[in-house]
Amino acid sequence: MSNQEDLNNEKLEEKANFIEKIIISDIEKNKNNGAVVTRFPPEPNGYLHIGHAKSICLNFGIAQKFSGKCNLRFDDTNPVKEDLEYIKSIEEDIKWLGFTWDGEARYASNYFQKMFDLAVELIKKGLAYVDDQTADEIRISRGTLTEKGKDSPFRERSIEENLELFLKMKNGEFENGEKVLRAKIDMGSPNINLRDPIIYRISHETHHNTGDQWCLYPMYDWAHGLEDSFEGITHSICTLEFEDHRPLYDWFLNQFEELHHPQQIEFARLNLNYTIMSKRKLLKLVQDNYVASWDDPRMPTVSGLRRRGIPAAAIREFCSRIGVAKTEGTVDYALLEYCAREELNRVATRRMVVLDPVKVVITNYPEGETEFFDGENNPEDENSGTRSISFSREIYIEREDFMIDPPRKYFRLAPGKEIRLKHAYYITCTDYKVDSEGRVEEIYCTYDPLSRGGWTDDGRKVKGTSHWVDANSAIPVEVRLYDRLFVAENPGKVTGDFLDDINPDSLSVVTAYAEPAIKDGTAGEFFQFLRVGYFTADYKEFTAGNLVFNKTVGLKDTFKVQR
Ligand code: ATP
Ligand code: MG
Repeated sequence: MSNQEDLNNEKLEEKANFIEKIIISDIEKNKNNGAVVTRFPPEPNGYLHIGHAKSICLNFGIAQKFSGKCNLRFDDTNPVKEDLEYIKSIEEDIKWLGFTWDGEARYASNYFQKMFDLAVELIKKGLAYVDDQTADEIRISRGTLTEKGKDSPFRERSIEENLELFLKMKNGEFENGEKVLRAKIDMGSPNINLRDPIIYRISHETHHNTGDQWCLYPMYDWAHGLEDSFEGITHSICTLEFEDHRPLYDWFLNQFEELHHPQQIEFARLNLNYTIMSKRKLLKLVQDNYVASWDDPRMPTVSGLRRRGIPAAAIREFCSRIGVAKTEGTVDYALLEYCAREELNRVATRRMVVLDPVKVVITNYPEGETEFFDGENNPEDENSGTRSISFSREIYIEREDFMIDPPRKYFRLAPGKEIRLKHAYYITCTDYKVDSEGRVEEIYCTYDPLSRGGWTDDGRKVKGTSHWVDANSAIPVEVRLYDRLFVAENPGKVTGDFLDDINPDSLSVVTAYAEPAIKDGTAGEFFQFLRVGYFTADYKEFTAGNLVFNKTVGLKDTFKVQR
């Protein structure tokens, strides 16, 4: 289907966000010959986080909707902080989220020569000069919002001298910081970004891609528009903080008539409560061992959410629900959890696992006997089949499902009370045993043989249902219970240091008892532990010999969700 035909689809237009509306109108005007090319341009200086996922869903989503293309471009113009590990993780995360970039991944550093040549052109046009001032001098002479900047004493250098000095900068004849190249625009501009911005700086560092070939590195504003232009990007989508940079983006491209000129469009970045998203802060959490790694399940990184067990489809749904706007707001973390539950309810394999076991002896059940029940693997998926669940005289239930002296309206197990064991029988508590500290050691029950399968037709009301495992066949598994990493909605707001708001109890590890079918799980599989929550078989560590599960999210909304 062509883009023109797509446009006839009124639904697409109705649901379009403001950026998509711009694109629809551009296609109608046959701007860029109707082509749509976007890009996702991460700086490889950290792992991707949920905010990046928003940008990914937006850029790749637009390419999909308008039969266009989306490039992956590593914005690797800073040699110091960039790393191959980050590049690999970024590629893996994008693929996991379900998107494919056009052709090979691109690197800003592959355009260094072309950018350099254009800088030489700019100098020849009398529109750039080499400045010998120190970084501090340049900063001070830039002025403020209320005060104009002051011209550099080097601003009127001749074109010849500028060309010669710029070549020397490239050839490594100066130290870091000794000289910069600046665009010659307007020191009196009300937009500070236009006050002769620096476009090249010297840095004698080894670059992950270009090695020691360059000691001259382009600044973001100069580089980014050129990268977009070289790649034929039609719509360069970025976050709001670049709005004031757009005049500069356009100014650079306007100096070169022969260059394709993409349109920069800004949208509001994602902010999420109880979370931080700055890569600098995330790196601090990793380096100082507040978490185990970038992909620790408590991290808001894409790889962390993946290990946590949040399905990629849930992240895409989340990004679609939060929408794309021009004004910033903070999204409730509960919405992400809501999207996760919706998806997991559809796909998760059901199993019974007891996290905090206490033994129940069924005194009227024959000793040495075992019987089996069928339990559906996923009631939401009729093709998921069943598994066989063994039952015998001794079982484990959850310690919190029993109370010696319960309040009224307590529907779980208590002396004299009857409950349903999921998939199995009704049991009634007849007695219990406590240890010297008063802790329940064992519970004694009788079962009703007529309630096989977990129901009777005598109209008996049994409100409570417990999950359980057969003590004879249950297997121990490691379960990592994760909670939020921060206790404050806006970490660091009160003291200024986000580390002050770290939740000291964000991880606890327990040995739980699981029904044996859990062993048939596969790494990365989603589970619902009945009545407990959603869990995933850790996709990196789970094997048949190492049964480790990460808690994704509880079953119920713990806080208000706007639906
Ligand atoms: P940080 O400030 O944490 O280093 P960044 O914005 O510098 O993040 P980049 O690698 O430059 O990180 O980001 C790649 C793309 O992702 C950019 O287009 C950026 O606008 C977008 N992006 C980053 N953070 C968010 C966010 N919170 N919401 C939406 N888009 C984002
Ligand atoms: Mg950036």
